[in-house]
Amino acid sequence: MLKPLIATSAYLLPAGRVGKWIDPAVAIPTVYLDALGRAGGQEAILRPTEITPVEAADLLGHFDGLLLIGGPDVDPSIYGQGAVETVYGVVRVRDDFEIALVRAALDLSLPLLAICRGHQVLNVALGGDLDQHISDRFPGHGRPGVENGAELHEIIVEPASRLAEIMGVRRSVCSHHHHQVIGRLAEGLRVVARAPDGLIEAVDVDDHPEVTSVQWHPEDTAPDDPAQQRIFDAFVTLSRESSP
Ligand code: MN
Repeated sequence: MLKPLIATSAYLLPAGRVGKWIDPAVAIPTVYLDALGRAGGQEAILRPTEITPVEAADLLGHFDGLLLIGGPDVDPSIYGQGAVETVYGVVRVRDDFEIALVRAALDLSLPLLAICRGHQVLNVALGGDLDQHISDRFPGHGRPGVENGAELHEIIVEPASRLAEIMGVRRSVCSHHHHQVIGRLAEGLRVVARAPDGLIEAVDVDDHPEVTSVQWHPEDTAPDDPAQQRIFDAFVTLSRESSP
């Protein structure tokens, strides 16, 4: 049986970011792919480019699922705000590409696993906004893009949610490195996990049980934490089942 093929949107790396390479590159941290691989999925790496809604739907027609991973901040102008000083690394073409993919995936009811930045992209794609910098007001969520910047904190899962069913636990200590969170929740999203400080850590999408969206990084602790690995397992299982 063929492995479910999972479209995975990549980081765009500018020239000079890869040692000895003169040219720009695309990249995905292998920790995500390891978790996907253990679940039985096969990644296909997508390079963010300009794309129309029709092209996004055509592109996703090749795949059994869509994985959106972490990354730099979403351009705040997309959700109607000016950037605060701490916004970093904005790559507008990746924002627009992933927003188009999210909308197309929902239209197609394609299984979607959205992690960290991906989870924020989902909210923005559906009309919500982000709190641009939480780190001073809500410490303990880690520092993105920094070596050893991950911090462990507990998340509390809504009992009557698909996420609780998938993870099989109501509380989990997991890995975080985010300085932003969902602010105004998009219409059609429902909060299904929070941090002890009340911040939103996971959402469900009404009428879209094929979507799992988490603010933390399940891939970081999945090798040793079955509850975190089950997030990938459930995603790949659903991708296999919805494969034509
Ligand atoms: Mn957190």
